[in-house]
Parts: sequence; C-alpha cells; structure tokens
Amino acid sequence: MGSSPDYPLVRDARGRALRDLRISVTDRCNFRCVYCMPKEIFGRDFQYLPKSSLLTFEEITRLAGIAALHGVEKIRLTGGEPLLRVGLPDLVGMLSAIRTSDGHPLDIAVTTNGSALAHLAPALKEAGMSRVTVSLDSLDNATFTAMNDVDFPVSRVLKGIDAARDAGLAVKVNMVVKRGFNDQDILPMARHFKGTGHILRFIEYMDVGSTNGWTMNEVVPSADVIARITAEMPLEVIVPNYSGETAARWRYQDGGGEIGVISSVTQSFCGSCTRVRVSTEGRLFTCLFATEGHDLRGLMRSGCSDEQLGGFLANIWRARDDRYSELRSAQTPSMTGRAKKIEMSYIGG
Ligand code: SAM
Ligand code: SF4
Ligand code: SF4
Repeated sequence: MGSSPDYPLVRDARGRALRDLRISVTDRCNFRCVYCMPKEIFGRDFQYLPKSSLLTFEEITRLAGIAALHGVEKIRLTGGEPLLRVGLPDLVGMLSAIRTSDGHPLDIAVTTNGSALAHLAPALKEAGMSRVTVSLDSLDNATFTAMNDVDFPVSRVLKGIDAARDAGLAVKVNMVVKRGFNDQDILPMARHFKGTGHILRFIEYMDVGSTNGWTMNEVVPSADVIARITAEMPLEVIVPNYSGETAARWRYQDGGGEIGVISSVTQSFCGSCTRVRVSTEGRLFTCLFATEGHDLRGLMRSGCSDEQLGGFLANIWRARDDRYSELRSAQTPSMTGRAKKIEMSYIGG
C-alpha cells in the first residue's frame, strides 16, 4: 500500500504520532511466569479464548495495512506465547507484503519466551522477520524454573537464541528484574551476553494487570542496575536510535557491546509513546495499562470498508490521552479506585 493524501499522519491529544503496532496473536502460553500468568489464576480450568474469537491472519493483515497508512512502521507479534499460534510464519509472510506510508516494508519482530525458536527461527526469517526479542530472566536454572513455573530449562532458551542468530535474525534479550527473585542474576546475565552482539535489556517489573500482586518494593530501579554493572564492567551512555525509544542505551567502555534499560516505573516515557496494542480478540488498546479497549473485530466482521476501519482507528488515536506511568510516578489520586487493568498475557507485552 503506498502513501495517500487521504491518510495524513495521525497525532493523539498529546501530539504523539502512531508508529508501533503490537499484536497479541494468542492468549495461551506454555510458561506460567509468576509475574505474568501465575498458576493460581491460569490453572487447568482457565478458559482461554475459543479459536473463533481470535483475529484471523487475514484480519490481522488487513488491520496492519490500514495502520501502516496511518503511520505505523513497526509491528511486534506478542501474546501469550506468539510462537504457539499455528502457522505464525505464514502471518509474517502476509505482513511482509505491506508497505509503510512512505513505501518501505514494515519492520516485523516478535517477543517470545524462546521455547520454540530452535524449531521456528529459520521459517520466521524466511517469511520476512528481521528480529526477535527473547525473554530470559535468569541463567540460573533454579531461578529460571521458579520464574517460569513449568520446569523449562535455561539451556533450551539459549539454544533458541543460537538458532535465531544462525538464521540471521537480530536478537535482543529481555530480562524483567524482580527484587528478591532474580536481581542476583543481573551481573551473570550481563557477563554472559557481553560480546555476543545480542543486546540485553533490563526491564523494571511493572504493575501490569491485576493478578501479579505487584508492589513498588519489588522494583529494582534501572539506575541501580547500571550502577551494579558499571562497578565491574564500566559503561557509558549512548544516544537513542530514534526519538521515542523505550530503552535507554549504554555501551561497555571496552567495546564489549551494548545493553539497554527500560525504566517503565522510575522514568516513565509516556511523552514519546507511539504504541497501540491489539489484543488476541481484536480489541484496540491505546495504553498497556488501559482498562478497556475498542472492538475492531466486531467492526471488521460486520463488513466495514477499509475507509471506515481507518477512520475508526484514526479517531481513537486522535482522542488518546493516556500517560499511566507518568501519573503513577506522580502518584496522583486518579490512580486509586481505577477499574481492573488488562492482563499482560491478553494485551501482549
Ligand atoms: N510470551 C512472550 C514472552 O514472554 O516474551 C511474549 C509475551 S510477554 C507478556 C512480553 C514481555 O512482557 C516479556 O518480556 C515479559 O517478560 C514481559 N512482562 C510480563 N509481565 C511483566 C511485568 N509485570 N513487568 C514487566 N514486564 C513484564
Ligand atoms: Fe508466557 Fe511470556 Fe507471560 Fe511468561 S511472560 S507467562 S512466557 S506470556
Ligand atoms: Fe505508553 Fe501507557 Fe506505557 Fe505511558 S503507560 S508509555 S502511555 S503504554
């Protein structure tokens, strides 16, 4: 799809453009990470969405094409565990035919727990994916299995990372740091990935959803993460790749590569947030902490035209005023008594 004067770049109520689309392709996962899908809630009896509720590949592709006309340049597939969605490389192939409003292919990535990467990396690359983000919270098997809560060994995730590299995919590794659980692994993780070319990013544990029992005491501020690493392996800050980048970039002074910190809690970046999220069943959310979404699936299944769908998307974006993390930092009264937040596994990370 080429550029069109009918689709001017859409900006929200705070002047933010629409650039990134995150699509959750499944609400299922083979892990039970304690901070995301705790077993007590996501047990054997948990009712996942039926297949008919999921957006089809055609619906996802249609939506992505329209979002691209409104400024979206990057697509990230997430979940649940996105690699569990049957035929995912086919979806990547369909998405890779879309062009941005200035005629470039979309930048297509996936965030995955890595469990199926060893098997799927070549097909994803072949289909047009450029990069993967693998979540790995520890290199210590006891800590990692306690976090994923399904006895999944570190070695298999590392094999997945190697397979992605071998397939020619750029790899980033995300570590969510939870105090008292895996903060002792910050240095071992930094040492392990230094010099590999894979960018390790430390993410502050967030109060997403309503099931993980988050408290501020469990957050390790990014400033502490940097201080711990630089004491052993000196770091220096580097400029962002682009405005609105969520991770602050640092590099090892000895040339050992780059790391990132995502300070969602201690240094919110709402002012430059250009992301929209679509849940597994096609609800559009303008913030990770949104309490309600907008039904795109219903609209598409009722036979709306591309113009109507584009108009709906643009209007929602124009009205967008979200800045949850900023308000959290300011601890304003509007933070209390809020409606139930959407779970990360449903909206995608
Ligand atoms: N299953 C895939 C995975 O784990 O990479 C994709 C979905 S997962 C919800 C996306 C990302 O969100 C993961 O990197 C995960 O570690 C992160 N995440 C989940 N809950 C979080 C929380 N409470 N705070 C910060 N990050 C979280
Ligand atoms: Fe699954 Fe990812 Fe959530 Fe872990 S973080 S439970 S791997 S969706
Ligand atoms: Fe964007 Fe909402 Fe996160 Fe702020 S809190 S950075 S608006 S997703």
